[in-house]
Amino acid sequence: MQLDLDDFKPVNDTLGHAAGDKLLQSAARRILACLSSDDRAYRLAGDEFTVISVGSGHPAKAHRLAEDLVAAFKKPFTINGLAAFVGTSVGISTAPSDGTSPEELMKASDLALYTAKKEGRGRAKAFDPAMLELLEQRELLRRSLRMALVQQQFYVEYQPLAEGGRIVGFEALLRWHHPLLGKIPPASFIPMAEADGMMPEIGAWVLEQACHEAMKWPENYIVAVNLSAAEFLTSGLTDRISQTLDLVGLPPDRLELEITESVLLERTVNNIDTLNTLNVLGIRISLDDFGMEYSSLSYLKTFPFDTIKIDKYFITDLETDLKSQAIVRCIVNLAHDLDMQVTAEGVETRGQAEWLHSVGCDRLQGYLVSRPLPVAAIDEFITRAEASKIHARQ
Ligand code: C2E
Ligand code: CA
Ligand code: CA
Repeated sequence: MQLDLDDFKPVNDTLGHAAGDKLLQSAARRILACLSSDDRAYRLAGDEFTVISVGSGHPAKAHRLAEDLVAAFKKPFTINGLAAFVGTSVGISTAPSDGTSPEELMKASDLALYTAKKEGRGRAKAFDPAMLELLEQRELLRRSLRMALVQQQFYVEYQPLAEGGRIVGFEALLRWHHPLLGKIPPASFIPMAEADGMMPEIGAWVLEQACHEAMKWPENYIVAVNLSAAEFLTSGLTDRISQTLDLVGLPPDRLELEITESVLLERTVNNIDTLNTLNVLGIRISLDDFGMEYSSLSYLKTFPFDTIKIDKYFITDLETDLKSQAIVRCIVNLAHDLDMQVTAEGVETRGQAEWLHSVGCDRLQGYLVSRPLPVAAIDEFITRAEASKIHARQ
């Protein structure tokens, strides 16, 4: 079994290493208290432990032990008089079914641990060959991702943004059509592309596509483009963006860049400079997925945002959940006091739209207005929207 403590790092970082060491000692004692005299426990490194339960004869016994270990970490640790909640996740492998060498067994329990952590921590998971398949699929995806750009498997869809019943522009959303696997959602390949350092190149391509596309729209329409953290941190970003705008001939004030709070986590001088430079160029900046990540309000004081986008998490249950209503109302007022616009994402019903309208939310985006559209459908959408001017039904 492999154990990994959940949330050990914050304790170590905030209370100091001496406190971290004490916590590890208490953790070790809790582990030992669960074992029978034939079992062995080791500390591998940092907050990782290994337990070997020999001759248990039956996987069920190992499972029970793993459950006991998880349960033993449910109570808080007391460190320097403070209560610290540090759980544990456990990955189990069994010999001989999952392997016969230490290497094989470690690999199997490692993968089981990885899965346990991904499924929400504080749980035990036994190795299952399906985990390997999943990992191999990810590897396959990762390899084909490298070819996707050159093989032109990417394309961009555009989702309308509505303001006061009118369409004011579109958000560019990246799509990947894999030749064998079909449509792959951005949420599963963008983090991968980001981890593999491909996002700057892919993002540059999206920006170019989006600017070209926007040139075909009415002159008062904006185009919103998402910027990932990795892209934001590449040097020469602002030069590259203004070159693209020049080349395509799109006025800077028709481009809106959407960044998330994770981009701003490292509040370096560079970050602030980049945002200020973009601002001076006349490019609009919006803060995406607001309320979901770190939500440090100090960003709002430091950075020149034009728009705040409220995450759809708060919009979905708006009609019934008083807490969501309170949060949304508060964000709208805050944004307006700061002279920023507010967009609500994921608006699907008339009821949501009406409620948002009543609290003064500026822009709406969501299936109610339209799903993201392929390029071929935009012309007609714009024609209809311009003809009716009430298409957005705000
Ligand atoms: P996002 O920026 O928050 O984009 C909004 C997502 O909400 C899109 O998902 C959109 O299709 C979906 N959506 C819009 N209206 C509704 C609605 O009414 N109901 C529901 N349930 N969903 C709605 P999508 O296209 O799957 O994109 C997911 C995420 O991937 C985006 O979230 C964005 O973070 C990222 N992404 C997409 N394209 C790009 C890109 O070109 N570059 C970067 N860096 N990230 C991108
Ligand atoms: Ca976005
Ligand atoms: Ca968003």
